[in-house]
Parts: sequence; structure tokens; C-alpha cells
Amino acid sequence: MFNVQEIKKDFAALQQQVNGKSLVYLDSAASSQIPKQVAEAMSQYYATSHSNVHRGVHTLGERATSAYEGAREKVARFLNAPKVENIVFTRGTTESINLVAYAYGLHKLQAGDGIVVTLLEHHSNLVPWQQIAKIKGAKLYMVELTEEGHLNLEQYRSFLKQGNIKIVAVTQASNVLGTVTPTKQIVQEAHAAGAVVVVDAAQSAPHMAIDVQDLDADFLAASGHKMLGPTGIGFLYGKSELLDDMEPFQMGGSMIGLVDYYESNWAEVPAKFEAGTPNIVGAVGLAAAIDYLNALGMENVHQHEQQLLAYAWDRLSQVEGIELYGPRQPRTGLIAFNIDDTHPHDVSTVLDAEGVAVRAGHHCAQPLHKWLHTAATNRASFYIYNDEQDIDRLVAALQKVKEMFG
Ligand code: PLP
Repeated sequence: MFNVQEIKKDFAALQQQVNGKSLVYLDSAASSQIPKQVAEAMSQYYATSHSNVHRGVHTLGERATSAYEGAREKVARFLNAPKVENIVFTRGTTESINLVAYAYGLHKLQAGDGIVVTLLEHHSNLVPWQQIAKIKGAKLYMVELTEEGHLNLEQYRSFLKQGNIKIVAVTQASNVLGTVTPTKQIVQEAHAAGAVVVVDAAQSAPHMAIDVQDLDADFLAASGHKMLGPTGIGFLYGKSELLDDMEPFQMGGSMIGLVDYYESNWAEVPAKFEAGTPNIVGAVGLAAAIDYLNALGMENVHQHEQQLLAYAWDRLSQVEGIELYGPRQPRTGLIAFNIDDTHPHDVSTVLDAEGVAVRAGHHCAQPLHKWLHTAATNRASFYIYNDEQDIDRLVAALQKVKEMFG
């Protein structure tokens, strides 16, 4: 049913040798690889339909517009959004969250209002809120973690009880600990307290089925390049009543209704939030990536990764001197670790020499690393094209690290 050997054939990058070894790519949480179907859809678009959108009445202009708007429809269906207009194209999760911070937070928050964030957040879902809090005189509350790496929900509830919380910004899955948060419950409780919720789905949208209506999230953000698509394209889902009521984020062409000498008004959503010429070919690539994931089935993708995670956790736990971070469950298919006292950059350099690509660093989550009492970790992350042999190669390469530094 889920044939990794067949899937691998679609990924040209995975066919190559790196440092004389066949490549094992375990850095999909940073950026996933691109299947040939995505690359072909993009090159086909350039060959036949490239033009600007929403402008030309000529044939190529219409093709470009229909490719771009067709991609929006795909994203809407992928998330089970009620309307196509709920989807705004952005450069990625970071831009989506900044859009909400500036177009919603900046205008709706008053001095003394509260914004809840969590210790699991990537800098993308933390720093914009720090900045908005500073500008508006709002207060930031950080939900800390249980020893295992779950959100401390008691603390979350105590923040909500204060009565001033207007925004809750939470990740659905941590990019370091893998922790999957109880997002639906968090949303319900935030709504009961009168707050809107911004969900960072950068690490969940590629790996599990998302139903924004079931989740009842107010905003949800993700990036194409972590879900088989190209860089430079991502999306923001927003509830219509919120998007309609928001100020624009950037001003310029395409986002206007009428422009007069001294003032202007705005186009309808989503155009209101898409100033300038958008990343049309990026949207085409993202749509092809969604087609690829849908053909596999998100439930199957999730199940495959969970099996791989179980195998990897088991194998890695047996490596002497290794520390694996985060809860055992519920989590996504990534594992951050440290081994002995070896610096993560040294570890990843040795792994790279063995053809195994993992990430080393703080993964844009410095507060979380502070909590872990370590400046950096290594992170192995899995996707649809990884199998147990890839994990075996990782474990074998870690033995080399031990031989060199142990
Ligand atoms: N949020 C999480 C949880 C992430 O893992 C990432 C990327 O690593 C981001 C946000 C930022 O995504 P992008 O760099 O595509 O904007």
C-alpha cells in the first residue's frame, strides 16, 4: 500500500551520492525534497502558461490566473476550509504569522491585553508576538512544559482565567520535540475565554490530515517547502469574519479596490492580503505537492511516519550516550538528540561524511533549547521517502561519531 521504494523513485535528489555514499535525507522538517511531479508541473507552467495573474484578458493571463486560483482551491480542500477565500497565499509560515500579527494584532490589541504563546514555538510564532506586545503595551504569557515536553495546560488555563487574553499563538507540532499539542482543546478553551487562536501548522500540515473546521482554528499557517512543494510559497487560513474585518498587511498593486489621489480602499479577501505579483509558479508547485500527498492519503502518510518513528526511537535509544528529547507520544516523525558531549555540528559533519543529512543547531527555537539546558541539538526528521534502512544508516553513522569523539 505504502511503497517507499516506489516513492523514492520520484525524488531525483534522493538518487544521488553525497561524499561517495548514497544520500539518506533526514532533514525534511527543515525542507522536504521535491518529487518529479512537482518539478514537472512548475516547468510545464513556465512552458505554457506563464504570465501575470488577475490582469491580462489574453490567453496566457487567463491560464496563469486559473492555475493560481486552482491552487488556492486545492489548499482550501486540503484543509477542509469552508471557502476558497479563506486561503491567503504567502511566502510561508513566517509571513503568514506576521500577517496576522500586523493586520490583526496591531489593530485589535489594546495596552494591557494578553497574548499567550508557548515554549514550543518556533521563533516565527514567538518573535512577531513579542514585537506586537512591545508596540501595543500588551503582555506576553508563555506556557511552559511538563518534564516530558507536553504543554502545561494547567498554566495555560490559569492565563486564560485572567480575562485579558485576546490571542493564543500555538504550534500544532513542535519542530524540536515533535510534541503534538492538543490544539482542538486549546482552541475551545481560548474561545471560551474570548481569545482568537493562531495555529502554526508548519510541522503538522505535511504529516497529518488537518480539518480547520473541526479544529475551529481562527488562523492556521503552513509552508509549501516542508510538504513536497517549492520554497517561497505558503498559506494562511483565516475565518472569513476575521479576514474581512482586518486591515491589509502590505499595500500596493492588486490589493486595492479603488485608488484616488489621496486615499484608497481595498479589494475583497483574499486579494486584500496579496499585494504585488504573487509567486504563481510556487502556487502551481504547491498544488502539485498537495496532489501527490492526496494520492498517498494523509492517513497513510501519518501511519508510515509513526511506524518509522517507533523504529527510530527504538534503534536510537540503544545508542550508548544518546539523549533523545521530547515525549514518546503524541509526536511527529522527528527526533532531536545529543550524543555524549559531542557538539551537534561535529555530529552532523561526521554524519554528512557518511551520506546522512540531519540538522544541527537550535532550529529557530532558542527558548526551548534554554529549557532543555543545551545550546543545540541534532535533529533527524522523516518523511514519506524514508524507510528503516535510512534509520539503520543513521545509527551506523552515529557509531562513527562515537569512534571519533567518544
Ligand atoms: N514554524 C515551525 C514549527 C517551523 O518548523 C518552521 C520552519 O522551520 C516555521 C514555523 C517557519 O517556516 P518558514 O521558514 O517556512 O516560514
